[in-house]
Amino acid sequence: MRSVKYYAATSWGDAVATLAKYPLAKPLAGGSDLLGWIKDDLVGPKEPRWEILVDLRTIEGASGYRYSQGDGLRIGALTPLSTLETAKEIVENYPMLAKAFAAPASPNIRNVGTLGGNINQRPRCWYLRGPEFSCYKKGGDFCFAVTGMNQYHAILDGELCYIVHPSDTAPALLAFDAKAKIVGPRGEKTVPLSEYFIGPRVDVTRETILAHDELMTEIQVPAPQPGVKTAYFKATNRETYDFAIVNVASWLKIKDNLVEDSRIYLSGVAPTPYRATIVEQTIKGKRIDEALARQAADQQMVRARPMSDNAYKVDIAKALIRRALLEAN
Ligand SMILES: Cc1cc2nc3c(=O)[nH]c(=O)nc-3n(C[C@H](O)[C@H](O)[C@H](O)COP(=O)(O)OP(=O)(O)OC[C@H]3O[C@@H](n4cnc5c(N)ncnc54)[C@H](O)[C@@H]3O)c2cc1C
Ligand code: SF4
Repeated sequence: MRSVKYYAATSWGDAVATLAKYPLAKPLAGGSDLLGWIKDDLVGPKEPRWEILVDLRTIEGASGYRYSQGDGLRIGALTPLSTLETAKEIVENYPMLAKAFAAPASPNIRNVGTLGGNINQRPRCWYLRGPEFSCYKKGGDFCFAVTGMNQYHAILDGELCYIVHPSDTAPALLAFDAKAKIVGPRGEKTVPLSEYFIGPRVDVTRETILAHDELMTEIQVPAPQPGVKTAYFKATNRETYDFAIVNVASWLKIKDNLVEDSRIYLSGVAPTPYRATIVEQTIKGKRIDEALARQAADQQMVRARPMSDNAYKVDIAKALIRRALLEAN
């Protein structure tokens, strides 16, 4: 592996200033994604060879969480996933989130992998991760997945690039209407997570709104509401230690047995976490039963545009949507 310079940031301001000063500097959290990227020397016309790693773990207060009934949950971006999946306040008040925090990878990876790193991890397309393929996402002029192997690629919203969003935690946080706190050279801002991810139509070389010198510092989850039922399901090829073929997170606000409001998000199916708005519209004001869940899932997946090898994902997505509606509790 080639050598890179290491810089231990002392504060968020210090990290931002270092990134702003050095165009070839890159934020480092647990390193479980980034170090593999560097080791494999994944570069392209618009994917630089990073030379300086700016460690965010050395920033005091960047890791940890706090919960209150009034404010809900605040999670520092550098908090390891393993801390969150077992946190008493999360397990008791947001069981669906705890399930999502426990979903990625293996216990070892969740011990080093942080929530910020999970949300900001790069996609897993095998062409992107192959040093020999200069595809659109690295600034090249071709998408190898269109004519190549695409069984794990997008069935929805693909255009130019057909990656799927890899994060297991993002759909669950989105279903809870979480917000992201961002710091940059012009100070801090808080944005809904629903505005955080960008697809290939906006910029094929990026996956989030973050500029080079901006960082995610915190995730904010609203306080739990009465009458809310949630569910989270992940389908994988292997029993453990695998990225999602499809996962679904549902948040349903039920009043008098009828759906008053809902947020349903999927990942593994589209370049960004995918909001199932047709499902939400179909179930609004209705009592959920088997027939309605099936109708909602089928109508949503009419939008699917599978590639040559991934039509099987459409049926899995329908099945998981149905379960996420019928088994929410
Ligand atoms: C074998 C394997 C299996 C996996 N399986 C799954 C899975 O099933 N589901 C799943 O969801 N994930 C999976 N992952 C991904 C894993 O969850 C991520 O690697 C991990 O969460 C990344 O966290 P990290 O702290 O190590 O991030 P790093 O590797 O340090 O960083 C990841 C990326 O995010 C950026 N970044 C990190 N923190 C911030 C921040 N605060 N602000 C802005 N940018 C930031 C970095 O610059 C880098 O580009 C798997 C990974 C491996 C290696
Ligand atoms: S799907 Fe995206 S990342 Fe994969 S080869 Fe095509 S352009 Fe590259």
